Amino acid sequence: DIGSSLPRTEDLRRRAQERLSACGVRPGAWDGARDGGLTARTPLTGGTLCGLPAASPQEVEAAVGEAAEAFAVWRMRPAPARGALVKRLGELLGEHREDLAELVTIEAGKIRSEALGEVQEMIDICDFAVGLSRQLYGRTMASERPGHRLSESWHPLGVVGVISAFNFPVAVWSWNTAIALACGDTVVWKPSEQTPLTSLACAALLTRAAADTDAPAGVHRLVLGGRETGERLVDDARVALVSATGSVRMGREVGPRVAARFGRLLLELGGNNAAVVTSSADLDLAVRAIVFSAAGTAGQRCTTLRRLIVHEDVAGALLEKVVHAYGQLRVGDPLAEGTLVGPLISCAAREAMDEALAAAQADGGKVLTGGEPVLQTEAPQAAYVRPAVVRMPAQTAVVRRETFAPILYVLTYRTLDEALALHNGVPQGLSSSIFTRDQREAERFLAADGSDCGIANVNIGTSGAEIGGAFGGEKETGGGRESGSDAWRAYMRRATNTVNYSDSLPLAQGVSFL
Ligand code: NAD
Repeated sequence: DIGSSLPRTEDLRRRAQERLSACGVRPGAWDGARDGGLTARTPLTGGTLCGLPAASPQEVEAAVGEAAEAFAVWRMRPAPARGALVKRLGELLGEHREDLAELVTIEAGKIRSEALGEVQEMIDICDFAVGLSRQLYGRTMASERPGHRLSESWHPLGVVGVISAFNFPVAVWSWNTAIALACGDTVVWKPSEQTPLTSLACAALLTRAAADTDAPAGVHRLVLGGRETGERLVDDARVALVSATGSVRMGREVGPRVAARFGRLLLELGGNNAAVVTSSADLDLAVRAIVFSAAGTAGQRCTTLRRLIVHEDVAGALLEKVVHAYGQLRVGDPLAEGTLVGPLISCAAREAMDEALAAAQADGGKVLTGGEPVLQTEAPQAAYVRPAVVRMPAQTAVVRRETFAPILYVLTYRTLDEALALHNGVPQGLSSSIFTRDQREAERFLAADGSDCGIANVNIGTSGAEIGGAFGGEKETGGGRESGSDAWRAYMRRATNTVNYSDSLPLAQGVSFL
């Protein structure tokens, strides 16, 4: 079932401009194309929305300077007072929920419900960070020396450079920014060059929140541009923490450069997430979770389900249900009611999908459904595809890498050990699930020798995490943790304090001297 006909680029341009204006972005900000500038496109038609100026090297330099200056003031503002800024930001995000969601759809291609969900995530993390602003707890430890107090304090860290990916154009920014601001840091944001418009809207709302709460304007700076703009943040010694979200390739470049200057690093890189479906699983529940995780967001989430590892006794029944459900997915205009799968971000993404499908077939894979382009005549520059399911004879090279498109590879297993070996036998380690009604299997999956991922779930899919937990993954996913739990600690520095309130000077470990 193909969605209704596509909107026209002119209409999308007008709608985007209205939404930007509503968020307080000045018209001059989006028609200022200049040499080496950015082009904002919409994946809905593949058409151009507008040109945008990219930050020059001097502008990036100045942005970091302003953020560093603001930090000197902001770090001395009591944390609960810093929370007031984040609270105001959350209110403004709520007021502009529809504006932001429509921009996310127009620019990243997400269906309306998922775009609204992304904005909700921003509001949720603001709530979380406001609470956190009164809970930046340090410990008091028992000192081994009489008349001594041993404790730790958490202090603001400095300027945080946020580099974000196209597929969560605003949520990733908010995870970093809400927490960083509450922690007393200031932020310079380099959004994806594929989604600059949503970043203009968010930055305008944060500027307004800062003015409303008497925070220094430099608490946040936006620098638009491509890889080179990101590199300037990476190499700037004034940027205390680089929090970068994107591909493993990007992380491989960024990691050593930040390490070389002893900067702090938080990497959120690619995933190659799997679900194990055991013979005791509730298959109907599993199918719903699988289809949302694998085909939702057109397979363009870092947590998208890419590998299905099914017990051979239930593989036939499960695949029949999955293929049937895939047949019901409406692919098309993400603004239209009832569409479940929007476009891929670009034609290059569809080419990568085609190449992966060809490689999988060359390895003996059998396409059970999907993979065909959709709406190609109507929008030759857009990239709509039917999500694919491919049964594989083995976990070959193509299965072990992340192709950022809706391809679900299916493998079968006989013993849980075999399933876990397949599951962990990839370089990435972000998200994972097991579907089972057997407690032993579930606990084994969550145990130290079970899933090796940063996220391990039981009877829900791999995607769609809540903000309350720490988000991130192991191995090539980069090891970073963001969002909830105690992820805030990455945004602060810890000082261990020993206070001697006695009139003698005992040395630790009983050492005697003088
Ligand atoms: P990408 O790596 O192409 O770009 C991500 C960002 O990094 C962009 O802003 C880009 O300009 C910047 N960048 C690229 N090379 C750089 C360099 N050498 N120095 C500094 N900055 C650089 O990724 P993408 O295509 O936008 O996003 C998709 C990828 O992101 C997928 O691999 C996906 O799994 C991953 N992702 C991971 C998470 C996570 O939390 N783990 C979340 C979202 C997306």
